[in-house]
Amino acid sequence: MSYVDEVLELVKKKNASEPEFLQAVTEVLNSLRPVVEANEELYKKNAILERITEPDRQLMFRVPWVDDKGQVQVNRGFRVQFNNAIGPYKGGLRLHPSVNLGIIKFLGFEQIFKNSLTSLPIGGGKGGSDFDPKGKSDREIMAFCQSFMTELCKYIGADVDVPAGDIGTGAREIGFMFGQYKRIRGMFEGVLTGKGLTYGGSLARTEATGYGLLYLTEELMKCHGESMQGKTVVVSGAGNVAIYAAQKAQQMGAKVVTCSDSTGWIYDPEGIDVALLKEVKEVKRARLTEYAAARKSAQYHEVSAADRGGAGVWQIKCDIALPCATQNELLIEDAKQLVANGCKCVCEGANMPTTIEATEYLQNNGVWFVGGKAANAGGVATSALEMSQNSERLSWSFEEVDAKLKGIMVNIYHNIDDAAKRYGMEGNYVAGANIAGFEKVVNAMLAQGVC
Ligand code: NDP
Repeated sequence: MSYVDEVLELVKKKNASEPEFLQAVTEVLNSLRPVVEANEELYKKNAILERITEPDRQLMFRVPWVDDKGQVQVNRGFRVQFNNAIGPYKGGLRLHPSVNLGIIKFLGFEQIFKNSLTSLPIGGGKGGSDFDPKGKSDREIMAFCQSFMTELCKYIGADVDVPAGDIGTGAREIGFMFGQYKRIRGMFEGVLTGKGLTYGGSLARTEATGYGLLYLTEELMKCHGESMQGKTVVVSGAGNVAIYAAQKAQQMGAKVVTCSDSTGWIYDPEGIDVALLKEVKEVKRARLTEYAAARKSAQYHEVSAADRGGAGVWQIKCDIALPCATQNELLIEDAKQLVANGCKCVCEGANMPTTIEATEYLQNNGVWFVGGKAANAGGVATSALEMSQNSERLSWSFEEVDAKLKGIMVNIYHNIDDAAKRYGMEGNYVAGANIAGFEKVVNAMLAQGVC
């Protein structure tokens, strides 16, 4: 049995109840086979794969808080510090009822390679809670965030572990958590990213993941002799990543015709009105029905969460598809539809939105496919730029951060393209991303000895 297969067996045995984590490990280790085979003796002796698939530590804690009726509620908090071979742990905090240890582990594991790809000194981690921010008052959100941070603050720090936002954690939540950290630890330091601009946040962080996704997509198109101009784009999601992906795609001359949330999706053949979408989602925090009510050209399709929310967007004919909502939202039947409709390119704004089966189908049918690890790395890259600004006690201009972000994303595309070519897998950007991210982390692990 090969070393990769041995470790896959072991990981399956040890983490049997964590399907998302197993999915992520299987995808990564399978694509690393050529690198591992070329270095099998060294990696095996140093238990590299066993170590990289086992978090440094995983923290799970009780988060009690009082709701507006005076009732005590209890949620479960998580922080998985996966690997700090190349820098302090870095990764977002997800607040969503679906959160469990397996999901946080899958996200933390992916984050190791993504962070490495940015070329910045950040390790991999992830956290969150099964708390559902939907429908909660500002006071309830604050009560939860303060309680969550009261425990989390023992394990994080500007040079230790620097959490950020993710699904359900935006500027409001980061602000409440930062306030509580400061209060308990008595320190004003860059312990969280995604902060408000008046207290250490970075310009362009809000836009970074969506913009970065488009900078990479544009470079990919350019390297295949195409451009974004005049292309039809379908986007899923209507959150932070989706909104700014749609905005940048339109600035590049493409037409974005869809978006979705967990209860429905929009087809707007005249192109999504991004200003209206921002008003509905960022200001009113409302459903997409409000977008449809305010825009004549929009067709709204209501779908229950059990029907996979916005999966209908993949039925719409497009040149480029950008899944920007959540994991496992693009399945094999969606991939078949995209190919049948002539879609040329799929780049993931969300983390692991495409199943392994769907990814393989797209790749085998000539679609240029870039996974989230590379394509959505702009968010964490800009978070690392926020950390640099905090350390310098300086704030860079929007243009300066945006230019650095663009440089990083273009560089990521070429790195993953080169890595795939080096191992005879030209055009396999998933393998390229895993290999390029892995090589740097492994070199650091080997240099640091058994730890
Ligand atoms: P948000 O919470 O801002 O938005 C998520 C969006 O996806 C919402 O519109 C949500 O709808 C929708 N959604 C959630 N679940 C489903 C579903 N089952 N079907 C359809 N739509 C759904 O999160 P982000 O935009 O920040 O994150 C989106 C993805 O991008 C996640 O995978 C995240 O991990 C990843 N990511 C985010 C980064 C960032 O900087 N924000 C960085 C890198 C990756 P609803 O409002 O109804 O819940």
